Amino acid sequence: MHKVIAIDGPSGSGKSTMAKKLAQSLGLLYIDTGAMYRALAYILDKNNIPCEESPLLGDFLAGLNIKYGENDSQLIVINGEDLTHTIREHKVSALASEFSQLPQVRSFLLDFQRKLGLFEICVMEGRDIGTVVFPDAFCKIFVTASPEVRAKRRLDQLKEKSNTSSDLTYDQVLKDVIERDRLDTNRLVSPLKVAEGATYMDTSDMEEDEVLMKLIETSRLKGQEVGLSI
Ligand code: C5P
Repeated sequence: MHKVIAIDGPSGSGKSTMAKKLAQSLGLLYIDTGAMYRALAYILDKNNIPCEESPLLGDFLAGLNIKYGENDSQLIVINGEDLTHTIREHKVSALASEFSQLPQVRSFLLDFQRKLGLFEICVMEGRDIGTVVFPDAFCKIFVTASPEVRAKRRLDQLKEKSNTSSDLTYDQVLKDVIERDRLDTNRLVSPLKVAEGATYMDTSDMEEDEVLMKLIETSRLKGQEVGLSI
């Protein structure tokens, strides 16, 4: 058993916001694996590494120095470049979905994530945490919402975080959400799916407070079952 609260789900399901709040409420480390896929995809694209399996990609990954969560303002740094804000740009979402299909990329981040999850009880959030990274996590939760609700949330989030994306329309974001779902659920390696034994939550009609309460309740209950008091 690993001391991990694994939260998976599609983009815009509210899982990032809620996973972060859950970790804060319980005083636990929060690990955002999407940020890692985003940062890596951004760096690969910037260095003109083609989006395909290759020795070139392998060599490039082997030479990377990646740091996660060193402090609150620097979530992710690769080769000394702070990517905390850059990775939230809309174009990076599409790059992450493309590069995350590659087994070489996934296996590189899988090792990195497993090491991070070994030390203390943490909330780790992504697409394959409960299915692949920590299938024996003591608590697994799948958070989702309808594509329309997710597109609306994503648009609000983009407007808030990035001034470069303010000209995006709802229709464009909905199209992108559907396309990313298609890529994430159909990829050959670690596709997005509900992990065995996971608690399923559809947040389409739920208020944030309600989602947080349910996450706290589920985490505590699952913790009790394995003798972890959180
Ligand atoms: O969660 P977020 O939207 O930031 O993730 C960006 C992209 O990274 C996802 O669309 C997905 O393709 C990829 N990802 C993944 N596995 C994870 C986390 C993210 O494939 N554990």
